[in-house]
Amino acid sequence: MITTRTEQFALIGDQVYHSKSPDIMNAAFSHMQIDCIYTAYNVSLKNLREAVTALKVLGFRGWNVTLPHKVEIIKYLDLVDQTAQEIGAVNTVVNDDGKLIGYNTDGIGYLRSLKEEVNINISSQHVVILGAGGAARSIGFVLAKEGVQSLSIATRTMAKAEALAEKLSLYTKAKAISLVDLEAELKKTTLFIHATSIGMHPQVRESPVASKWLHSDLIVSDLVYNPKHTTLIKAAKEKGATIHYGLGMLVYQAANAIELWTERKPPVHIMREKLEESGLS
Ligand code: NAP
Repeated sequence: MITTRTEQFALIGDQVYHSKSPDIMNAAFSHMQIDCIYTAYNVSLKNLREAVTALKVLGFRGWNVTLPHKVEIIKYLDLVDQTAQEIGAVNTVVNDDGKLIGYNTDGIGYLRSLKEEVNINISSQHVVILGAGGAARSIGFVLAKEGVQSLSIATRTMAKAEALAEKLSLYTKAKAISLVDLEAELKKTTLFIHATSIGMHPQVRESPVASKWLHSDLIVSDLVYNPKHTTLIKAAKEKGATIHYGLGMLVYQAANAIELWTERKPPVHIMREKLEESGLS
């Protein structure tokens, strides 16, 4: 039952009508038996300032932020935590009695999922991340701070890979590599993280790398979660590599947001079940 006391949470982004976040967040709230509701709103960039003011005035306790507002939102917040500052993007806002505080739960959500789903010693990994966008940045910082052995960033825009590698090298051995060098780099890699949209629905036949580049000593982690079994994941399985699906990051970044808003641990298994049953393509 929604009443005047129900606490409100939301997702704002440019194209959120297909988002699964309301399904998994409301399933969690219901299971936790807390009087909260989560809704999603399409907000264009030109209306972002007004949308933030509206959420604040209407007393929303917090909200998630998705593309394309994760960077722009920062200028409307009172405080941004250190990790989100380094990443340069915010995906979760806490409204603390009118004071807006920004966080980024993507990287830490990825790490929780990786630790939970793969038997892995993080600090012994040699990592390649393909992509240098928001997801790559959030994961790069978290893994660098966890003390991985090395981090290589490969992407089609070399300047972006170089900029990210330079920042990560504050924490670990990090370098940018060109796509031409990716095949050779993967031979020395233990954890390969795919952080571009290649292979995402509806382009499900595409793969970011040739299957012959993969090998059985690799953990292949594909952030694409729709479909769950991407062409990359299927190829990795055939090569005997360990696989890590993108769904876990989606669940844990949401779980971390709930923890920030409610200071309670949400039922991750319920959120995952809800996501799986909501029928990703
Ligand atoms: P983003 O900020 O737009 O970054 C995308 C990155 O991919 C950029 O570095 C881009 O390079 C690169 N890229 C795109 N197409 C490419 C191609 N054909 N060849 C080589 N590089 C290419 O997006 P994002 O937010 O980081 O998201 C990246 C992927 O992760 C998406 O598939 C998204 O769905 C997924 N994701 C999953 C989760 C999860 O919970 N599982 C969370 C966040 C994101 P340029 O800069 O040169 O364009």
